[in-house]
Amino acid sequence: MTITKLATCKSCGAKIVFLKTTSGKFIPVNYESVLENKIASYEIFNSKKHTSHFATCPNASKHRKHGVSPK
Ligand SMILES: [Zn+2]
Repeated sequence: MTITKLATCKSCGAKIVFLKTTSGKFIPVNYESVLENKIASYEIFNSKKHTSHFATCPNASKHRKHGVSPK
C-alpha cells in the first residue's frame, strides 16, 4: 500500500511528493521525477528513478535542522 502526499517544499517552494521508502520512511521527492507520461506514478521510492528533494533543494541544510536525519 502506498500513501502519497502532494506538498510544497517549505524552503524553496518546489512541488514535491512524499514517497515511502523500502524502510518504511517517507521522503520528499521532486514531483517531476514521479511523472510517467505526464501522469504521476506513486510507488515505493526508487533511487534509480526518483530524485530525492534533499539532493536538489537549495535549502536542504534547513531540512536536516528540522530533524530529518538520513540513516
Ligand atoms: Zn526545497
